Amino acid sequence: PDADSATRPRVSVIGTGYLGATHAAAMAEMGFEVVGVDQDPRKVEALSAGRVPFFEPGLPELIEKHVASGRLRFTTDIAEATAASDVHFICVGTPQQATSFAANLSYVEDATAAVARNLTHRGLIVGKSTVPVGTAARLRLLVARHVSSSIDVELIWNPEFLREGKAVDDTLSPDRIVLGGASREAEETMRTLYAGPIGAGVPVISCDLPTAELVKVSANAFLATKISFINAIAEVCEAAGADVSVLADALGHDVRIGRQFLNAGLGFGGGCLPKDIRALMHRSKELGAHRAAGLMQQVDEINMAQRQSVIDKTVAAAGGSVLNRRIGVLGVAFKPFTDDVRDSPALNVAAALHLRGAQVTVHDPEANGTARSNFPTLSYATTARDAAIGASALLVLTEWPDFGAVSPDELGELVENRVVIDARNCLDAARWSAAGWRVIALGRETTV
Ligand code: NAD
Repeated sequence: PDADSATRPRVSVIGTGYLGATHAAAMAEMGFEVVGVDQDPRKVEALSAGRVPFFEPGLPELIEKHVASGRLRFTTDIAEATAASDVHFICVGTPQQATSFAANLSYVEDATAAVARNLTHRGLIVGKSTVPVGTAARLRLLVARHVSSSIDVELIWNPEFLREGKAVDDTLSPDRIVLGGASREAEETMRTLYAGPIGAGVPVISCDLPTAELVKVSANAFLATKISFINAIAEVCEAAGADVSVLADALGHDVRIGRQFLNAGLGFGGGCLPKDIRALMHRSKELGAHRAAGLMQQVDEINMAQRQSVIDKTVAAAGGSVLNRRIGVLGVAFKPFTDDVRDSPALNVAAALHLRGAQVTVHDPEANGTARSNFPTLSYATTARDAAIGASALLVLTEWPDFGAVSPDELGELVENRVVIDARNCLDAARWSAAGWRVIALGRETTV
């Protein structure tokens, strides 16, 4: 061991999904000894062998590197991992509850209580999961109930802003580091852990617990609002004969607005934005913040209406019914560069058309497997060509760059009708139109 290993905190990461596996690998890359804990033995087995059970660019290489270097290991045994570490990151899921819009906090509570119960020496518990404001304060009480009275423990919040598909870069060089509720000592420990990014100029924002929890939630709420805003404007564009893509480009030149998250289309999905805005809606109501709740309600409604609009356009394009019609679908991941289909608008539309009696064949470069395990009754094709065969309509539902590159001439030979519904406004409409396709987009005129 090198000279400063005695002062270097050892890290445990509880929950090794998208967030935890990436965080664990990044902490190892920053030079720390890390143990990842998950209750799912298959995940632990895969990660221990250097395999990542989901698609995330750059992550397999990093996991493999540090499993091999011995700095990173995985276990299902939280007692052993807690005893072997000093800082414990809580990275478990906070999904939407089955019966309401509130977040299900049982995983966070269980993981935090388990760490507290198993602490054998002084520890710092660091929440990273996205939680409704007020959760961390309650977790502090939970920790106090479970920890042995002789052990010194502190709980702080350090929300995570990584994006799936760019998770490794986002974790190694985040835009900012938010530390909520940290004592001077805890802040010093966190500054040691994040010395790499801080040294590279990443700003640290120290604040109270509720502010830290809300920074994350409002970042997602703002991004979701931007998407629903442009989709609301797309509705006006369609009615008025304007082109929302040109409009968004023009808007985006204003640095106060910015071009990102202004793509009109099928709307947002995934394991974060939808459940986070709903959790904010629920929590705002509890707190009596009714205007915030109302805003989130509108953002959610506009978003869900986009899915219905694409279903309606498909049915109309098929002449009023999709029963027994073949529909080719390009893209089921909730966004490109991921295999994640949690609350995927694309999979949602594909499934809805299937339930209306269409024969839906889906192709996604990465997400066929995850989609199949969620929705086994759709047909899955390994190429865009195979998905297009005999199709009454072709739907582009995720903006993978691969789909921009497919040849409309080639696909035109395979389909029954040259009708493409570009639900992400990502195709070169003029090129498809020149190849004889009717291009139906969102928020702009149909190109015939
Ligand atoms: P995930 O479902 O991929 O991973 C959660 C993991 O925690 C699972 O592997 C599960 O088996 C494990 N787990 C649950 N309870 C456990 C326990 N008691 N002990 C040990 N392991 C346990 O979820 P995720 O996408 O990684 O999200 C985790 C949290 O991070 C959520 O709050 C999410 O909102 C937040 N977040 C996610 C992202 C993202 O892009 N995925 C980005 C920022 C924040």
